[in-house]
Amino acid sequence: MYKLSDRVQSMATSQTLAMAAKARELKAEGKDIISLSLGEPDFNTPDYIKEAAIQAIHENYNSYSPVDGYVELKDAIINKFKRDNKLTYDRSQIVVSTGAKQSLANVAMVLLNPGDEVILPCPYWVSYAEIVKLAEGVPVEVPTSVETDFKMTPEQLEAAITPRTKMLWYSSPSNPSGMVYSREELRALADVLVKHPEIVVVSDEIYEHINFVGDHASMAQFEDMYDRVVTVNGVSKAFAMTGWRIGYIGAPTDIARACNKMQGQITSGANSIAQRAVITALQEPISKIQYMIDRFKSRRSLITQLLSEIEGFVVTEPEGAFYVFPDVSYFFGKTIKGHQIKNATDFSMFLLEEALVATVTGDAFGSPNCLRFSYAASEEEIQEAVKRIKQALA
Ligand code: PMP
Ligand code: GLU
Repeated sequence: MYKLSDRVQSMATSQTLAMAAKARELKAEGKDIISLSLGEPDFNTPDYIKEAAIQAIHENYNSYSPVDGYVELKDAIINKFKRDNKLTYDRSQIVVSTGAKQSLANVAMVLLNPGDEVILPCPYWVSYAEIVKLAEGVPVEVPTSVETDFKMTPEQLEAAITPRTKMLWYSSPSNPSGMVYSREELRALADVLVKHPEIVVVSDEIYEHINFVGDHASMAQFEDMYDRVVTVNGVSKAFAMTGWRIGYIGAPTDIARACNKMQGQITSGANSIAQRAVITALQEPISKIQYMIDRFKSRRSLITQLLSEIEGFVVTEPEGAFYVFPDVSYFFGKTIKGHQIKNATDFSMFLLEEALVATVTGDAFGSPNCLRFSYAASEEEIQEAVKRIKQALA
């Protein structure tokens, strides 16, 4: 009898996707589940982007695309980096992939040797640790907490660095905490990194436009860091295009070339029609998607306010993305309605079963005291979800 590889057997299932699948299953059984689990905008892709895809179909964009993306898309990405981030890249530094998830996997595959360490400030996005492990790297978790707004300090970074450190990965705005590093905070981290020129930084900026506090800062904007930062971005979140699967990087040329080589053996160029649509998405002004960002902002206030009214929830107001990440450790060790709550996973299951509200346990993100709520859901759903949680806890 065959056996599956050690590689896949030792890999954890994506908890965000698993919770979303469970919520879908329960809904199909007729249960009235409110899903605040998956980080996915509840908006439709804007019409002007859809039109560009329809036009691309009519224009017969049906052949394999260049592995690293159409030249026109790379140019649109170069202009976007200039316009939004004041970053200068040329075509040899851009690689388009099947979602930012593949961009991240490429980078891990081309940079990590077995045993190389990757510093992950906690909470980190669920797939970082598993992607690193798949590439035989070692995730090094740096804990942060609600008290420090989930930010890693320069001292913590310094203490985590060893001779095996190869990379630092983080997202800002952060999934799952919603924290946003200011330019000054990034500079303070960069001051540590300049002493360690062998460390590559992966700056995941996929929530860049969903930022409620002001300017988005990029690590590559610092001249003394530019040549070892991989800037990761994509259209899933701000453009409501999760299913279209387009992400991209701006990177030092040799890293970009290596990603191109890796991708050429695994998936080839990303979907041709989606790439043509993304040219339009990136060329049009950001003001066209502002209505979605405004809605996320008002939902943020709503959910933060409502959750903080629940005894035992310690909530910080997120500064970006569309997640709120309360500390719920108050409930650990309690038994509620016959459910023993030992940890955040038990609490998340309790909310699913007793309140019919789907969330994601903080364990998935390396922060076991917390629970993630995605507020990429309607105001009515948010209100109803919190009402049900209060009732379940009453
Ligand atoms: N990075 C972060 C922080 C995310 O939340 C996501 C969400 N899917 C991704 C990367 C991957 O995005 P995608 O593959 O849809 O471009
Ligand atoms: N990034 C989203 C989330 O964290 C989508 C799911 C995923 O790709 O893991 O929920």
